[in-house]
Amino acid sequence: MTIEPFEIYAIRYAHLGGRHASENFVLADPHEYASDLDYFVWVLRRSDGDLVVDTGFAEEAALRRGRELLRSPAEALRLLGMDPGAVTDIILTHLHYDHAGNLDQFPRARFHIQDREVAYATGRSMCHGPLRAPFDLGDVLHMVRHVYAGRAVFHDGDVEIVPGLNLHRVGGHSAGLQILRVWTRRGWVVLASDASHLYDHFRQNRVFPVVYNVGDMLEGYRLLYRLADSPSHIVPGHDPLVMRYYPAARPELEGIIVRLDCAPTES
Ligand SMILES: [Zn+2]
Ligand SMILES: [Zn+2]
Repeated sequence: MTIEPFEIYAIRYAHLGGRHASENFVLADPHEYASDLDYFVWVLRRSDGDLVVDTGFAEEAALRRGRELLRSPAEALRLLGMDPGAVTDIILTHLHYDHAGNLDQFPRARFHIQDREVAYATGRSMCHGPLRAPFDLGDVLHMVRHVYAGRAVFHDGDVEIVPGLNLHRVGGHSAGLQILRVWTRRGWVVLASDASHLYDHFRQNRVFPVVYNVGDMLEGYRLLYRLADSPSHIVPGHDPLVMRYYPAARPELEGIIVRLDCAPTES
């Protein structure tokens, strides 16, 4: 049986500049400047429907946390001809504020999430300020409401959603972080989300300072290599280089949406 490949779109919705190396890497020189961060949501497209991966954050969180919101993630879906009100399935890689905001903007969606992520975001680890910091309580409460409304789809570890799309729990950065292995016309692409913020993290075995378990984070890099057809099939979650390496979905979407199922020009 041949599996129909997915198209993968990365929508850049926010940006953060002026970062010092110590904000991107544990044990880095605090005086050295380092890569900016871009913020993405992703769309997987196939003839049997579109799936959305993560939901980004909204203006309030952007202002409070000093991030530059470029566009509403939900509204940006319209650039791909999608209606956020009609989205049926959303995969949440984890519940950090920049991946799981805007949960009220998808009234028909079911939310795919790891058991451990919801347990983590609502359990004893949240008694600790540094672990709590990347979550926004409003988002977590929204997710719990979706659980009570029967709109959560829980997964425990590795699972095939449909042929050509698998989720794998990594942990590391957040206890229930999951990554995606997606079948495309160029082979198996891995959307790493925050399992690797930047190319430098998985390539150089460096640790992002927002971390729950360093060992799991480093094991996660090995998993990326194992699941992807080649290193150039691994897509980090926050690297501005993604916008440079991959082609725009359409010429007028330059700098906004790129196609990850196309081969990168560099990697
Ligand atoms: Zn995160
Ligand atoms: Zn993130």
